[in-house]
Amino acid sequence: MEIKEEKIVEREGVFGKITQLGHEQIVYCYDEPTGLKALIGIHSTVLGPALGGTRMWNYNSEQEALTDVIRLSRGMTFKAAISGLNLGGGKAVIIGDAKVMKTEAFLRRFGKFVESLNGKYITAEDVNMKTADMEYIAMETKHVTGLPESRGGGGDPSPVTAYGTYLGMKATAKKVFGKDSLQGKKIGVQGVGQVGMYLVEYLVKEKANVFITDISEEKMSNVAKKFGVTAVNQDKIYDLDMDIFSPCALGATLNDDTISRFKCSIIAGGANNQLKDEKKHAYMLMDRGIVYAPDFLINAGGLINVYNEYLGNYNRDNVMRHAEKIYSTCLNILNLAENEKISSQEAAIQLAEKRIAEVGRVRIPR
Ligand code: NAD
Repeated sequence: MEIKEEKIVEREGVFGKITQLGHEQIVYCYDEPTGLKALIGIHSTVLGPALGGTRMWNYNSEQEALTDVIRLSRGMTFKAAISGLNLGGGKAVIIGDAKVMKTEAFLRRFGKFVESLNGKYITAEDVNMKTADMEYIAMETKHVTGLPESRGGGGDPSPVTAYGTYLGMKATAKKVFGKDSLQGKKIGVQGVGQVGMYLVEYLVKEKANVFITDISEEKMSNVAKKFGVTAVNQDKIYDLDMDIFSPCALGATLNDDTISRFKCSIIAGGANNQLKDEKKHAYMLMDRGIVYAPDFLINAGGLINVYNEYLGNYNRDNVMRHAEKIYSTCLNILNLAENEKISSQEAAIQLAEKRIAEVGRVRIPR
């Protein structure tokens, strides 16, 4: 099947880029004394405030940061919609080295920028931002979630993300292998940070045969030792003879270079934006007979967690029960994709867009 690559940053100028994927607003934040440079992307507020974490990354260019915030914030809209949450989609990215730049003043200044949006955007943690950072941000804005349990928050959302990812993986196994047991399945996990590590724990409990990789040698050997799993070289993971590949690092790892190398039946992981090109690469996987569990659906556990915290009366058991719906939604989407002969990614987006259109029309704006 010949699918044209979707170049999301091809249009001229910032406005061209913003309107291409239907964003409402991109806010540029700059504070000279602290060196803070951040972008807040608000993709949609149709179903509710745009909730999405803040990622801090040493981007090579402002262009790269803009592309990231555009892609990530749009993904949040679909993630919230498909998970049945009354939320829109947003995300923030901070440009810089988290190890050296994240001071109290820096984080509080970012909180002030979030506050200036009056609740249109609600922030939380993402890569290189921890619950402790949210405490500083919360000193300047009430539009923050993902606070530590000691502050009445839901704490680290990663265990819930991992749980949802695990259930999405099981649902996909049910579709592909006829039963959802992962016992004895050879599973490659790319990235054993917060999400990847908790996922490995579930997989090991189910007696899967787990292989891991990470760019951090230290994390890789710690997780390998702790769970008795096999560590493999970063690049070797793509060539591994495995049943399931689980991307749990950064995005765009499903691309022209990697897809031809896979020898697995399923891809199901917790990373955001796994498909470098959402159309082209989803269909490339389909053509290779690899069933892909849409990332924004199966990694929604973290969002479910912070959403419950934002609503108040946080309860982890309720959150886990809510996350369990990922299993049936995932199976429905895989069946829809099969019946309609479309990619699972397209089926998931269709379902999310349907809810945004239907509920957006009737909900009372607050
Ligand atoms: P993390 O920073 O704790 O872990 C990411 C890990 O990936 C790190 O150990 C890092 O060294 C490793 N890594 C980076 N590039 C790699 C590469 N090329 N090969 C191998 N390993 C590599 O982050 P996290 O919170 O575990 O999030 C992981 C992914 O899941 C991200 O894409 C994030 O956006 C997504 N996600 C996280 C949550 C959550 O609750 N934390 C929720 C939804 C989605």
